[in-house]
Amino acid sequence: MNIATWLYQTALVRPDAPAIRLGNNLCATYGDFARSAARIGVFLRDHHGIGPGDRISIFARNAPEYLELLYGVLWIGATVVPVNHKLHSKEAAWIIANAEARIVFTESGTVFSSDTNLPTNTREVSIGSVPPNEPSAPVNPPASVNDDDTAWLFYTSGTTGRPKGVMITHRNLRVMAMTYPLDVDQIFPSDHPLYAAPMSHGAGLYNFHYVRIGACHVIPPSQGFDAAEIASLAKSLGNITFFAAPTMIKRLIAHAQRTNYNGDGIRTIIYGGGPMYLADIDHALDVFGPRFAQIYGQGECPMTITAMNRDLVADTTHPEAMQRRASVGLAQACVEIRIADEDLNDLPTGEVGEVLVRGDTVMAGYWRNPEATSATLVDGWLRTGDLGRLDGDGFLTLTDRSKDVIISGGTNIYPREVEEALLTHKDVYEIAVIGASHADWGEEVVAFVVPLEGTKPDAEALTDWCKTQIASFKKPSRYVFVPDLPKNGYGKILKTQLRAQLSEQS
Ligand code: AMP
Repeated sequence: MNIATWLYQTALVRPDAPAIRLGNNLCATYGDFARSAARIGVFLRDHHGIGPGDRISIFARNAPEYLELLYGVLWIGATVVPVNHKLHSKEAAWIIANAEARIVFTESGTVFSSDTNLPTNTREVSIGSVPPNEPSAPVNPPASVNDDDTAWLFYTSGTTGRPKGVMITHRNLRVMAMTYPLDVDQIFPSDHPLYAAPMSHGAGLYNFHYVRIGACHVIPPSQGFDAAEIASLAKSLGNITFFAAPTMIKRLIAHAQRTNYNGDGIRTIIYGGGPMYLADIDHALDVFGPRFAQIYGQGECPMTITAMNRDLVADTTHPEAMQRRASVGLAQACVEIRIADEDLNDLPTGEVGEVLVRGDTVMAGYWRNPEATSATLVDGWLRTGDLGRLDGDGFLTLTDRSKDVIISGGTNIYPREVEEALLTHKDVYEIAVIGASHADWGEEVVAFVVPLEGTKPDAEALTDWCKTQIASFKKPSRYVFVPDLPKNGYGKILKTQLRAQLSEQS
């Protein structure tokens, strides 16, 4: 089934329901939304000869038209290739060439005009050049597709090496969307899903269940993340719900404290995409109350490895409530997870190993990359590359990406544990712990520290603090104080860049 059928059906039953807002202003009803998507499909087919399976890229900031384009491409059975707008045009061109996209939609239509990296057979089309809606135009249903056809070619964030195209099928998207109300958060037609993070990634993937239920999507006029704007939209619209990286939550909470905002109008913030430290979520709960849910996923199993709903995140009554809060929650209903050693044998409860996932949301494979696919999908299990452990009740605690583990004097040190400890120090705002090569120990622990505004923590104070929190051999032997940490367009801390910085200095 074509996932775009959900839009078609919602538009038939609730054509006048508000569908898309730019800030407070209504841009489209569900009737308009479906007409736009169908029209874009016709435009692609009749003007550009696009057919099922062809790839169409979108390289643009979040906008009301983004949703229409997404559905327009899916409507005719083509594959959408959203590219993070924060990438350099050369990086975007590499992805577009790798996907062999026939068309790339951009805001201006001239992003690549002087760029020779775009393949000659790819056309750049400005979003504004798509012909406008004709109000009475008939809307034909979306093309029929197979469940295993690729709907969305999702490029990994490529924090190590070139991004890879993850083939996400119509079935993957449907099952992902159907699992959300079971495990992540309730959904209602009165919801206002808001897009504060790039729609090329998790935020955009989270539109489907809201289209199905007929909720009204909100694009912030800043087209990105602006804490003051979110607070103001939450107050005027109410029932706001959105996906945010942990770093965005930190900024939102800092803003809320400065302005005495208590989260009114926000129903749920779903956090994920990177580690949320216990100290940070505790603080966020203090300021906003129980408005947070967590998901853990990766492009290869979009948004659907584990989840922790609002009640579990906010719980203080269970004897292990704090360990649970520091975890990434329970396996979502659509997948099985297990923890395995290097030979992929099961490990007992409580032991750290690689997280493996199996289920209907696991990708079909990497686009035109059979070697990477067979290294990652083994006997039906997805190797996530993440390390973690399960407790007796099924809560998964992530330690680190396997490549980030520090091996010092033959002992594994998980940076996450050191980071959790340092973040509880009153003068630490942000932290990243990495391993640096060391002549005697193999690796030593180095902490990059962003001090809280107006404070000046020193290495000695932080070392003393660590000694009260974690085993002495885990404490950093070096501290580097920095004003901020390098992050990619999705807010993920780039530890590869920190490692490169250290090796340049030594
Ligand atoms: P991406 O494919 O770009 O979405 O990156 C996925 C990776 O982000 C995962 O493999 C994890 O390493 C990390 N990640 C995602 N969600 C979480 C989470 N809730 N907590 C910690 N790390 C996460």
